[in-house]
Amino acid sequence: MSALLEVRNIAKSYGAIQALQDVNLKILRGKITVLLGPSGSGKTTLLRILAGLEKPSHGSILCDGEDIAEDSDLLRQKATMVFQKSVFFNAAVYKNVAYGLKVKGYSNSQIKDSVRKALQTVRLEGFENRRTRNLSGGEQQRVSIARALILERELLLLDEPTVNIDPRNVSIIEATILRVNRNQKMTIVLATHNMFQAEALSERVAILLEGTVRQVGTNQQIFGTSNKHLASVTRLDNVFSGVSRINKTGTSVIKVSENLRIEASFRKSGEATIYIKPEDIIVSAHPFTSSARNVFQGSIIEVSDLGSVMKLRVNAEKKFLVQITKRSFTEMGLNVGSTVFLTFKASSVQHV
Ligand code: ADP
Ligand code: MG
Repeated sequence: MSALLEVRNIAKSYGAIQALQDVNLKILRGKITVLLGPSGSGKTTLLRILAGLEKPSHGSILCDGEDIAEDSDLLRQKATMVFQKSVFFNAAVYKNVAYGLKVKGYSNSQIKDSVRKALQTVRLEGFENRRTRNLSGGEQQRVSIARALILERELLLLDEPTVNIDPRNVSIIEATILRVNRNQKMTIVLATHNMFQAEALSERVAILLEGTVRQVGTNQQIFGTSNKHLASVTRLDNVFSGVSRINKTGTSVIKVSENLRIEASFRKSGEATIYIKPEDIIVSAHPFTSSARNVFQGSIIEVSDLGSVMKLRVNAEKKFLVQITKRSFTEMGLNVGSTVFLTFKASSVQHV
Protein backbone atom coordinates (compact mmCIF):
# COMPACT_ATOMS: atom_id res chain seq x y z
CA MET A 1 0.00 0.00 0.00
CA SER A 2 1.61 3.24 -1.08
CA ALA A 3 1.84 6.33 1.07
CA LEU A 4 0.32 9.54 -0.23
CA LEU A 5 2.33 11.41 2.38
CA GLU A 6 4.86 10.35 4.96
CA VAL A 7 5.43 12.46 8.02
CA ARG A 8 8.94 12.07 9.46
CA ASN A 9 10.14 13.37 12.80
CA ILE A 10 7.79 16.32 12.75
CA ALA A 11 7.96 18.73 15.67
CA LYS A 12 6.01 21.92 16.18
CA SER A 13 6.39 24.43 18.95
CA TYR A 14 4.56 27.63 19.69
CA GLY A 15 7.02 29.56 21.82
CA ALA A 16 7.59 27.42 24.88
CA ILE A 17 4.68 25.09 24.05
CA GLN A 18 5.71 21.90 22.34
CA ALA A 19 2.55 20.93 20.42
CA LEU A 20 4.15 18.03 18.50
CA GLN A 21 7.39 16.10 18.77
CA ASP A 22 8.93 13.16 16.90
CA VAL A 23 5.76 12.50 14.95
CA ASN A 24 6.11 9.74 12.36
CA LEU A 25 3.14 8.64 10.30
CA LYS A 26 2.37 7.31 6.85
CA ILE A 27 -0.88 8.45 5.26
CA LEU A 28 -1.80 5.50 3.06
CA ARG A 29 -3.57 6.15 -0.23
CA GLY A 30 -7.28 5.45 -0.27
CA LYS A 31 -7.53 4.73 3.46
CA ILE A 32 -9.19 6.45 6.40
CA THR A 33 -6.57 7.21 9.02
CA VAL A 34 -7.90 8.34 12.36
CA LEU A 35 -5.85 10.51 14.71
CA LEU A 36 -7.23 9.53 18.08
CA GLY A 37 -6.24 11.53 21.13
CA PRO A 38 -7.57 13.60 23.99
CA SER A 39 -7.93 17.36 23.83
CA GLY A 40 -4.55 19.10 23.58
CA SER A 41 -2.72 16.06 22.19
CA GLY A 42 -1.84 17.84 18.93
CA LYS A 43 -4.47 16.56 16.48
CA THR A 44 -5.42 19.95 15.03
CA THR A 45 -1.78 21.01 14.78
CA LEU A 46 -0.89 17.87 12.82
CA LEU A 47 -3.85 18.34 10.46
CA ARG A 48 -2.93 21.99 9.88
CA ILE A 49 0.61 20.94 8.98
CA LEU A 50 -0.70 18.32 6.54
CA ALA A 51 -2.99 20.97 5.04
CA GLY A 52 -0.08 23.35 4.46
CA LEU A 53 -1.62 25.90 6.83
CA GLU A 54 1.22 25.64 9.31
CA LYS A 55 4.90 24.82 8.85
CA PRO A 56 6.55 22.31 11.14
CA SER A 57 9.40 23.61 13.29
CA HIS A 58 11.33 20.50 12.39
CA GLY A 59 10.98 17.36 10.27
CA SER A 60 9.86 16.44 6.80
CA ILE A 61 6.77 15.48 4.84
CA LEU A 62 7.65 13.10 2.05
CA CYS A 63 5.62 12.88 -1.11
CA ASP A 64 6.91 10.49 -3.78
CA GLY A 65 10.31 10.60 -2.11
CA GLU A 66 10.52 14.37 -2.03
CA ASP A 67 10.37 16.54 1.08
CA ILE A 68 7.53 19.04 0.69
CA ALA A 69 7.26 20.22 4.31
CA GLU A 70 8.30 23.73 3.31
CA ASP A 71 6.12 23.79 0.20
CA SER A 72 2.83 25.00 1.66
CA ASP A 73 1.39 25.71 -1.79
CA LEU A 74 1.89 22.14 -2.92
CA LEU A 75 0.33 20.78 0.27
CA ARG A 76 -2.63 23.11 -0.18
CA GLN A 77 -3.12 21.76 -3.68
CA LYS A 78 -3.15 18.21 -2.40
CA ALA A 79 -5.26 18.56 0.70
CA THR A 80 -8.34 20.32 1.94
CA MET A 81 -9.35 20.66 5.55
CA VAL A 82 -12.75 20.81 7.19
CA PHE A 83 -12.48 22.69 10.46
CA GLN A 84 -14.26 21.94 13.69
CA LYS A 85 -16.12 25.21 13.35
CA SER A 86 -16.59 26.60 9.85
CA VAL A 87 -16.92 30.15 8.70
CA PHE A 88 -19.38 30.87 5.91
CA PHE A 89 -20.31 33.78 3.72
CA ASN A 90 -23.61 35.22 4.84
CA ALA A 91 -25.19 33.79 1.71
CA ALA A 92 -27.02 30.83 0.27
CA VAL A 93 -25.60 27.31 0.46
CA TYR A 94 -24.95 27.40 -3.30
CA LYS A 95 -22.61 30.37 -3.06
CA ASN A 96 -20.68 28.88 -0.15
CA VAL A 97 -20.14 25.53 -1.86
CA ALA A 98 -19.43 27.04 -5.29
CA TYR A 99 -16.81 29.52 -4.11
CA GLY A 100 -13.77 27.25 -4.50
CA LEU A 101 -14.54 26.50 -8.14
CA LYS A 102 -15.49 30.07 -8.91
CA VAL A 103 -12.04 31.34 -7.95
CA LYS A 104 -10.56 28.61 -10.14
CA GLY A 105 -12.48 30.07 -13.09
CA TYR A 106 -14.86 27.20 -13.80
CA SER A 107 -17.86 27.91 -16.00
CA ASN A 108 -21.25 28.45 -14.41
CA SER A 109 -22.67 25.23 -15.80
CA GLN A 110 -19.67 23.21 -14.57
CA ILE A 111 -20.03 24.79 -11.14
CA LYS A 112 -23.76 24.14 -11.00
CA ASP A 113 -23.25 20.50 -11.83
CA SER A 114 -20.46 20.05 -9.26
CA VAL A 115 -22.43 21.80 -6.51
CA ARG A 116 -25.41 19.54 -7.18
CA LYS A 117 -23.21 16.43 -6.94
CA ALA A 118 -21.44 17.60 -3.79
CA LEU A 119 -24.75 18.40 -2.07
CA GLN A 120 -26.03 15.00 -3.10
CA THR A 121 -23.01 13.35 -1.49
CA VAL A 122 -23.72 15.02 1.86
CA ARG A 123 -27.47 14.40 1.50
CA LEU A 124 -28.40 18.06 1.17
CA GLU A 125 -30.15 17.83 -2.18
CA GLY A 126 -32.28 20.91 -2.82
CA PHE A 127 -30.55 23.04 -0.18
CA GLU A 128 -28.94 25.36 -2.78
CA ASN A 129 -31.03 28.40 -1.95
CA ARG A 130 -31.20 28.00 1.83
CA ARG A 131 -29.31 30.58 3.88
CA THR A 132 -26.30 28.76 5.28
CA ARG A 133 -26.41 30.51 8.64
CA ASN A 134 -30.00 29.44 9.24
CA LEU A 135 -29.10 25.76 9.02
CA SER A 136 -28.50 23.59 12.09
CA GLY A 137 -24.92 22.96 13.23
CA GLY A 138 -24.96 19.50 11.69
CA GLU A 139 -26.29 20.73 8.37
CA GLN A 140 -23.67 23.48 8.30
CA GLN A 141 -20.99 20.88 8.88
CA ARG A 142 -22.35 18.94 5.89
CA VAL A 143 -22.14 22.14 3.82
CA SER A 144 -18.48 22.49 4.75
CA ILE A 145 -17.82 18.89 3.76
CA ALA A 146 -19.51 19.56 0.40
CA ARG A 147 -17.40 22.71 0.03
CA ALA A 148 -14.26 20.63 0.58
CA LEU A 149 -15.31 17.74 -1.68
CA ILE A 150 -16.02 19.99 -4.65
CA LEU A 151 -12.32 20.85 -4.86
CA GLU A 152 -11.52 17.19 -5.63
CA ARG A 153 -8.24 17.20 -3.74
CA GLU A 154 -6.43 13.95 -3.08
CA LEU A 155 -6.57 14.26 0.69
CA LEU A 156 -9.51 15.22 2.90
CA LEU A 157 -8.65 16.34 6.43
CA LEU A 158 -11.50 16.38 8.96
CA ASP A 159 -11.01 17.96 12.37
CA GLU A 160 -13.46 16.53 14.92
CA PRO A 161 -16.28 16.74 12.38
CA THR A 162 -19.09 15.68 14.72
CA VAL A 163 -18.37 17.48 17.97
CA ASN A 164 -21.44 19.28 19.34
CA ILE A 165 -23.66 17.89 16.60
CA ASP A 166 -26.99 16.14 17.12
CA PRO A 167 -27.09 12.31 16.79
CA ARG A 168 -29.00 12.27 13.49
CA ASN A 169 -26.48 14.52 11.79
CA VAL A 170 -23.62 12.56 13.35
CA SER A 171 -24.87 9.40 11.61
CA ILE A 172 -25.26 11.21 8.29
CA ILE A 173 -21.77 12.70 8.51
CA GLU A 174 -20.19 9.37 9.47
CA ALA A 175 -22.00 7.61 6.63
CA THR A 176 -20.85 10.32 4.21
CA ILE A 177 -17.22 9.92 5.28
CA LEU A 178 -17.37 6.14 4.70
CA ARG A 179 -19.16 6.57 1.37
CA VAL A 180 -16.69 9.15 0.04
CA ASN A 181 -13.82 6.87 1.00
CA ARG A 182 -15.35 3.74 -0.55
CA ASN A 183 -16.84 5.26 -3.71
CA GLN A 184 -14.26 7.87 -4.57
CA LYS A 185 -11.27 6.11 -2.97
CA MET A 186 -10.63 9.39 -1.18
CA THR A 187 -7.73 9.39 1.28
CA ILE A 188 -9.02 10.77 4.57
CA VAL A 189 -7.38 11.77 7.83
CA LEU A 190 -9.89 12.35 10.62
CA ALA A 191 -9.10 13.70 14.08
CA THR A 192 -11.30 12.68 16.98
CA HIS A 193 -11.19 12.17 20.73
CA ASN A 194 -14.09 9.75 20.45
CA MET A 195 -12.93 6.14 20.66
CA PHE A 196 -16.21 4.82 19.30
CA GLN A 197 -16.02 7.02 16.25
CA ALA A 198 -12.41 6.01 15.70
CA GLU A 199 -13.35 2.36 15.84
CA ALA A 200 -16.32 2.81 13.50
CA LEU A 201 -14.54 4.80 10.81
CA SER A 202 -10.86 3.90 10.80
CA GLU A 203 -8.83 1.51 8.76
CA ARG A 204 -5.69 2.79 10.42
CA VAL A 205 -5.38 4.54 13.75
CA ALA A 206 -2.65 6.73 15.20
CA ILE A 207 -2.97 7.30 18.91
CA LEU A 208 -1.72 10.75 19.82
CA LEU A 209 -0.80 11.59 23.39
CA GLU A 210 0.97 14.75 24.49
CA GLY A 211 2.11 15.63 21.01
CA THR A 212 3.53 12.24 20.10
CA VAL A 213 2.19 9.31 18.11
CA ARG A 214 2.26 6.55 20.72
CA GLN A 215 0.94 3.78 18.54
CA VAL A 216 -0.05 3.24 14.91
CA GLY A 217 -1.92 0.21 13.67
CA THR A 218 -4.85 -1.21 11.81
CA ASN A 219 -8.31 -0.97 13.32
CA GLN A 220 -7.97 -4.60 14.43
CA GLN A 221 -4.53 -4.07 15.99
CA ILE A 222 -5.72 -1.09 18.00
CA PHE A 223 -9.22 -2.15 19.02
CA GLY A 224 -9.09 -5.92 18.74
CA THR A 225 -6.80 -6.52 21.68
CA SER A 226 -6.40 -5.05 25.11
CA ASN A 227 -4.47 -1.88 24.73
CA LYS A 228 -3.20 0.34 27.45
CA HIS A 229 -2.71 3.36 25.17
CA LEU A 230 -6.45 3.38 24.63
CA ALA A 231 -6.96 3.74 28.35
CA SER A 232 -4.97 6.96 28.26
CA VAL A 233 -7.10 8.30 25.43
CA THR A 234 -10.36 7.67 27.18
CA ARG A 235 -8.57 8.87 30.25
CA LEU A 236 -11.37 9.29 32.73
CA ASP A 237 -13.64 6.73 31.12
CA ASN A 238 -13.54 3.48 33.07
CA VAL A 239 -10.12 4.20 34.51
CA PHE A 240 -10.11 3.86 38.29
CA SER A 241 -7.43 3.89 40.94
CA GLY A 242 -7.35 2.45 44.40
CA VAL A 243 -5.60 0.13 46.77
CA SER A 244 -5.44 -3.44 45.58
CA ARG A 245 -5.29 -6.51 47.81
CA ILE A 246 -4.68 -10.07 46.74
CA ASN A 247 -7.39 -12.32 48.15
CA LYS A 248 -7.32 -16.02 49.03
CA THR A 249 -8.23 -17.20 45.56
CA GLY A 250 -5.28 -15.33 44.07
CA THR A 251 -7.25 -12.60 42.35
CA SER A 252 -7.07 -8.95 43.36
CA VAL A 253 -9.73 -6.68 44.80
CA ILE A 254 -9.28 -2.97 44.16
CA LYS A 255 -11.13 -0.57 46.40
CA VAL A 256 -11.88 2.32 44.03
CA SER A 257 -14.26 4.14 46.38
CA GLU A 258 -15.78 3.65 49.82
CA ASN A 259 -18.46 1.29 48.51
CA LEU A 260 -17.05 0.08 45.24
CA ARG A 261 -14.67 -2.85 45.03
CA ILE A 262 -13.66 -4.26 41.68
CA GLU A 263 -12.25 -7.76 41.33
CA ALA A 264 -9.49 -8.37 38.82
CA SER A 265 -7.79 -11.58 37.75
CA PHE A 266 -4.27 -10.12 37.89
CA ARG A 267 -2.22 -10.26 41.08
CA LYS A 268 -1.20 -6.94 42.47
CA SER A 269 -1.05 -5.44 45.90
CA GLY A 270 -0.78 -1.74 46.68
CA GLU A 271 -1.81 1.23 44.54
CA ALA A 272 -3.28 0.14 41.22
CA THR A 273 -4.91 1.80 38.24
CA ILE A 274 -7.35 -0.27 36.27
CA TYR A 275 -9.26 0.06 33.02
CA ILE A 276 -12.33 -1.79 31.77
CA LYS A 277 -13.17 -1.62 28.07
CA PRO A 278 -16.74 -0.35 27.59
CA GLU A 279 -17.58 -3.30 25.36
CA ASP A 280 -16.56 -5.76 28.07
CA ILE A 281 -19.35 -4.52 30.33
CA ILE A 282 -22.76 -6.14 29.98
CA VAL A 283 -25.73 -3.88 30.60
CA SER A 284 -28.99 -5.39 31.82
CA ALA A 285 -32.21 -4.13 33.34
CA HIS A 286 -32.14 -6.86 36.03
CA PRO A 287 -29.26 -8.66 37.71
CA PHE A 288 -28.67 -12.05 36.15
CA THR A 289 -26.84 -15.15 37.23
CA SER A 290 -23.38 -15.40 35.80
CA SER A 291 -19.92 -16.32 36.92
CA ALA A 292 -18.75 -12.75 36.37
CA ARG A 293 -17.26 -11.38 39.56
CA ASN A 294 -18.31 -7.77 39.15
CA VAL A 295 -21.97 -6.76 39.25
CA PHE A 296 -22.94 -3.18 40.07
CA GLN A 297 -26.23 -1.33 40.13
CA GLY A 298 -26.36 2.19 38.77
CA SER A 299 -28.45 4.71 36.91
CA ILE A 300 -28.05 6.10 33.41
CA ILE A 301 -26.95 9.74 33.45
CA GLU A 302 -26.15 10.33 29.77
CA VAL A 303 -27.07 8.73 26.47
CA SER A 304 -25.47 9.24 23.07
CA ASP A 305 -26.76 7.73 19.90
CA LEU A 306 -24.03 6.39 17.61
CA GLY A 307 -26.30 4.87 15.01
CA SER A 308 -26.67 1.18 15.71
CA VAL A 309 -24.90 1.50 19.06
CA MET A 310 -25.80 3.63 22.07
CA LYS A 311 -23.15 4.91 24.43
CA LEU A 312 -24.31 5.27 28.02
CA ARG A 313 -22.76 6.89 31.04
CA VAL A 314 -23.85 5.10 34.16
CA ASN A 315 -23.38 6.28 37.71
CA ALA A 316 -22.67 3.25 39.90
CA GLU A 317 -20.73 4.84 42.77
CA LYS A 318 -18.22 5.70 40.03
CA LYS A 319 -19.11 6.76 36.49
CA PHE A 320 -18.83 4.02 33.91
CA LEU A 321 -18.95 4.30 30.14
CA VAL A 322 -20.74 1.37 28.53
CA GLN A 323 -22.21 0.55 25.17
CA ILE A 324 -25.26 -1.36 24.06
CA THR A 325 -26.95 -1.97 20.72
CA LYS A 326 -29.74 0.43 19.93
CA ARG A 327 -32.03 -2.54 19.58
CA SER A 328 -31.40 -3.74 23.15
CA PHE A 329 -31.65 -0.18 24.42
CA THR A 330 -35.11 0.16 22.89
CA GLU A 331 -36.26 -3.33 23.88
CA MET A 332 -35.22 -2.74 27.48
CA GLY A 333 -37.07 0.60 27.49
CA LEU A 334 -33.99 2.43 28.78
CA ASN A 335 -33.50 6.16 29.06
CA VAL A 336 -31.73 8.73 31.20
CA GLY A 337 -32.63 7.92 34.82
CA SER A 338 -33.21 4.17 34.24
CA THR A 339 -31.68 1.73 36.69
CA VAL A 340 -29.31 -0.78 35.11
CA PHE A 341 -26.90 -3.48 36.22
CA LEU A 342 -23.34 -3.58 34.95
CA THR A 343 -21.65 -6.96 34.82
CA PHE A 344 -18.06 -7.74 33.88
CA LYS A 345 -15.53 -10.48 34.43
CA ALA A 346 -12.47 -10.18 36.62
CA SER A 347 -10.43 -11.01 33.52
CA SER A 348 -11.83 -7.93 31.74
CA VAL A 349 -10.19 -5.66 34.30
CA GLN A 350 -6.89 -4.50 32.90
CA HIS A 351 -3.97 -3.23 34.93
CA VAL A 352 -2.63 -0.02 33.35
P1 ADP B 1 -5.93 18.95 19.84
O1 ADP B 1 -6.46 19.34 18.49
O2 ADP B 1 -5.55 17.51 19.95
O3 ADP B 1 -6.84 19.36 20.95
P2 ADP B 1 -3.99 21.04 19.38
O4 ADP B 1 -3.20 20.64 18.18
O5 ADP B 1 -5.05 22.06 19.18
O6 ADP B 1 -4.55 19.74 20.08
O7 ADP B 1 -3.01 21.62 20.47
C1 ADP B 1 -1.83 20.95 20.91
C2 ADP B 1 -1.10 21.86 21.89
O8 ADP B 1 -0.59 23.00 21.22
C3 ADP B 1 -1.97 22.39 23.02
O9 ADP B 1 -1.20 22.46 24.17
C4 ADP B 1 -2.35 23.76 22.53
O10 ADP B 1 -2.65 24.62 23.61
C5 ADP B 1 -1.11 24.20 21.77
N1 ADP B 1 -1.41 25.11 20.66
C6 ADP B 1 -2.11 24.82 19.55
N2 ADP B 1 -2.18 25.87 18.71
C7 ADP B 1 -1.50 26.86 19.32
C8 ADP B 1 -1.18 28.24 18.98
N3 ADP B 1 -1.59 28.76 17.83
N4 ADP B 1 -0.46 28.94 19.87
C9 ADP B 1 -0.06 28.40 21.03
N5 ADP B 1 -0.29 27.13 21.41
C10 ADP B 1 -1.00 26.37 20.57
MG1 MG C 1 -8.30 20.11 17.98
